[in-house]
Amino acid sequence: MREYARLYIDGAWQVPSGQGMAEVIDPASEVAIGRVPMGDEQDVERAVNAARRAFADWSRTPSSRRAGYIRALAEQLRAQAGEMADVITSELGMPVQWCQMVQVDGPVEGLEQYVELAGLMDEVREVGNSLVYREAVGVCAFINPWNYPLHQMIGKLAPALAAGCTVVVKPSQETPLHAFLLAEMIDAIGLPAGVFNLVSGPGSKVGEALARHPQVDMVSFTGSTGAGVRVSQAAAPTVKRVCLELGGKSPLLITADADLEAAVRHGVQDVMINSGQTCTALTRMLLPVERYAEALEIALAETRALVMGDPRDPQSFLGPMCSAGQRRTVLDYIRLGQEEGARLLCGGDSAPGLERGFYVAPTLFADVDNRMRIAQEEIFGPVLCLIPYADEQQAISMANDSPFGLSSAVWAGNRERGLALARQMRAGQCFVNGGGFNYRAPFGGYKQSGNGREWGEEGLGEFIEVKAVQL
Ligand code: NAP
Repeated sequence: MREYARLYIDGAWQVPSGQGMAEVIDPASEVAIGRVPMGDEQDVERAVNAARRAFADWSRTPSSRRAGYIRALAEQLRAQAGEMADVITSELGMPVQWCQMVQVDGPVEGLEQYVELAGLMDEVREVGNSLVYREAVGVCAFINPWNYPLHQMIGKLAPALAAGCTVVVKPSQETPLHAFLLAEMIDAIGLPAGVFNLVSGPGSKVGEALARHPQVDMVSFTGSTGAGVRVSQAAAPTVKRVCLELGGKSPLLITADADLEAAVRHGVQDVMINSGQTCTALTRMLLPVERYAEALEIALAETRALVMGDPRDPQSFLGPMCSAGQRRTVLDYIRLGQEEGARLLCGGDSAPGLERGFYVAPTLFADVDNRMRIAQEEIFGPVLCLIPYADEQQAISMANDSPFGLSSAVWAGNRERGLALARQMRAGQCFVNGGGFNYRAPFGGYKQSGNGREWGEEGLGEFIEVKAVQL
């Protein structure tokens, strides 16, 4: 049991003003594994004031020194990677087969990029009689989701520290424990007081108070599109910068000349990892009608071969949903898909053979029409829609017929063909023939998937103000 009775504010563990503690549930055992404070508006006030006080010195600290703290944090995280992965498996339910690699080692690699990128803050551009400087935005609030909790945290924290911003972080109530462990690491490396502050609690209270606060210069939000809209509305009266990283319903377009076996197997695995709770999951597979029957067989065989079970079992590919609420949502969508007339190929039930835990079996829907709600709305579970297309023009228009534009993928007979199709996708990412995630490249969405970018140089840009000095 991990129990944290205090919040990390102004470089110290402080008694919260908010009353009560929130339990953290292990979604595999349904047993409480931790407790954290329910912070309130007064805790937000204290944290924002601490971040404001720390900003003047931190933003003027030489970038090489800030880079030193980032390096120290990366080293600390590497030293405690096993413990961090264990915490995330417990609170999220991602199997150990994946958890450390995806949830910890990847983000640390991303963090390390900013040791070097911090130096970009010193670049001064000369334009005619002007010098253009880069300066830190100011006090930043981070509101985070639960599905890749450390990844989301580091995607904001690393560039913010590099730029010279100070931060107040609100983790998701489902998965707050990793954030408390991270705060312990930040304390251990001696980051100056007030640069990093942690306030746990409900989004409707702590999140809204951060978004509204006049002393917060920027809010970086990752989560659902609906909550992102509410955060933008709360932030609007103070004209603060709002960076949104929202949901998705991403397509995988497979061409008729593609290696069908490789493409379909990759597509199935992409959706099922983290039990479909991935913002970029390729949940709409667009298949040439002449190879549709063959593709369904491959998808079915691949799905049946995936092991669902206890996240602590090294054999498990999929674990449970993060919460009982998420399982309910996913099962409701599966019922809706059947009502809409899609053909259930497999799955659709909650836990065959597993008495405890918030499991949903990996589910395939065939004969899906791209206009059905199960093809238009983000389900956020292990549910893949298999959609036939007549020609590539139709496939491209279906791929782009979505309110979202976070990610996309193409699997084609060759790279050039894949690249040509990638350029036609209205999405912030496109993965060609199985290309992998790159922590040096910008990440973010088009359309209702958001308006910001994380990681790489563009990720730093989110935390920068530019000042023109005329001589
Ligand atoms: P969510 O319900 O929108 O919650 C995200 C965060 O916002 C939580 O910390 C939540 O607090 C808080 N929140 C909720 N309502 C709020 C409000 N009115 N004001 C301020 N804060 C508020 O999303 P989720 O279920 O945690 O995460 C899943 C979603 O995130 C999916 O849509 C997924 O696609 C998206 N996502 C996007 C990306 C990306 O990079 N584009 C990455 C990962 C996930 P509580 O603790 O009270 O819930």
